[in-house]
Amino acid sequence: MSASHVIIGDGIAGSSAAETVREADPDADVTVITDEGEALYNRILIKEFAKGKLPEAPISIHDPDWYAERDIDLQLNTHVTTVDTDAHEIHTHAGDVYEYDKLLVATGGTPTQLPVENSDADGVHHFWTFEDARAIKENAENSETGVVVGAGLLGIDLAAICGAQGLEANYLMRGECWWRYALSPDGAEIIHDALRDIGVTPVFDSGVDRFETDEDGHVTAAVDPNGERFEANFVGAAIGLDFNTEFLRDTDLELDYGVVTDEHMRTNVEDVYAAGDITQFHDVILGERAQNGAWGSAKEQGSIAGQNMVGDWAEPEETFEWVSSYSITHFDFPFLSFGHPTLGDDDAERKYSDTEWRRVALKDGKVVGGVLIGDLAPQSKLKKLAREQVDVSDQKELLLEETIDLEKFDALEAE
Ligand SMILES: Cc1cc2nc3c(=O)[nH]c(=O)nc-3n(C[C@H](O)[C@H](O)[C@H](O)COP(=O)(O)OP(=O)(O)OC[C@H]3O[C@@H](n4cnc5c(N)ncnc54)[C@H](O)[C@@H]3O)c2cc1C
Repeated sequence: MSASHVIIGDGIAGSSAAETVREADPDADVTVITDEGEALYNRILIKEFAKGKLPEAPISIHDPDWYAERDIDLQLNTHVTTVDTDAHEIHTHAGDVYEYDKLLVATGGTPTQLPVENSDADGVHHFWTFEDARAIKENAENSETGVVVGAGLLGIDLAAICGAQGLEANYLMRGECWWRYALSPDGAEIIHDALRDIGVTPVFDSGVDRFETDEDGHVTAAVDPNGERFEANFVGAAIGLDFNTEFLRDTDLELDYGVVTDEHMRTNVEDVYAAGDITQFHDVILGERAQNGAWGSAKEQGSIAGQNMVGDWAEPEETFEWVSSYSITHFDFPFLSFGHPTLGDDDAERKYSDTEWRRVALKDGKVVGGVLIGDLAPQSKLKKLAREQVDVSDQKELLLEETIDLEKFDALEAE
């Protein structure tokens, strides 16, 4: 009898798992279930669509025919409500039941709603899906003033959309700099200047206390905790993600701000795997639990999970070992973060020019992540140092040389 593989989520993790399972086992039954109304699209590119810089078509990755041609059963608009791991069944909102031999949870996250008055008003946007991007584009095109809240990688996309759509916008941030957990004020200043150049004003030691609306319920302004009022017909909020684990509440799966897995993408419950943003996985490079929020990492985890699903649960062959990266292309200079730039107990950083800066995060003397602005050339060498967990504690300065020379690192020399 052919094995039945059920995959919940048709993001890049779920979709690449389905493709991998199909390639490895031509006879398997493969079902992909998603609560979105469209098959896999490029989530990274929806911001370019919302900016008005890309049409819809190139953002789609697979159409339903892609699944049909591979004999993968794609169920759109289907929300999984519960999983029964004893019976090996999943249940949907429509009352359908799917039996599985192997199950993959690849359900990612949903933007956290701002917990303030009127955060559900018309014109206040959270950003994750193509549907969100369509609504954001439409409102941004019809607005003159904007407010963005959430000083991280998704917040800056919303700020760039305001800039590209010609809004007069304020970017309300807690503290004194953008992405303060990964950048120092020196590095963040480059971003602040670039924001000002596109018409977005960074406002520090701020945030949102409440929104004001007109009589039709459309947002008109944000009021910050200092009582300052910022006019806005468009609001973009990106304060974090809630991971989609609600349907797993009655299972014995270990949940911890996501689904806990080992380095083979196995959960603690037999025959259940997880992949993508949702995983709190054992990072073999760091030697501890970690979570990534990046396209490349989710794709690789999906592929690793898919290969292990067609194999023996007890003896998985593939291991996830990856230094992820995430780039921003909104400005005249390139920007890349890699690994875990917000972790660590030490760092090394340098500003090279008004648009060039580097920070490397270290833990126990080893590179765990970093941020590069302006010059991305060092990325492959820094990632190699991170991947191989080279002890650089006595040679931190070498990490900041304009051109990194790996041969100068004693620990690598000794290999
Ligand atoms: C605007 C934006 C810009 C980004 N830019 C970048 C970038 O430049 N670089 C980068 O590396 N990463 C970027 N990311 C992050 C990247 O897109 C994610 O890390 C990646 O898409 C995660 O993939 P995933 O498959 O794990 O989860 P998701 O893509 O979130 O897919 C999960 C799917 O599961 C579905 N689902 C959830 N619960 C259920 C349920 N109960 N039943 C059925 N279906 C369910 C969801 O609707 C969703 O379709 C960006 C993300 C966004 C939103």
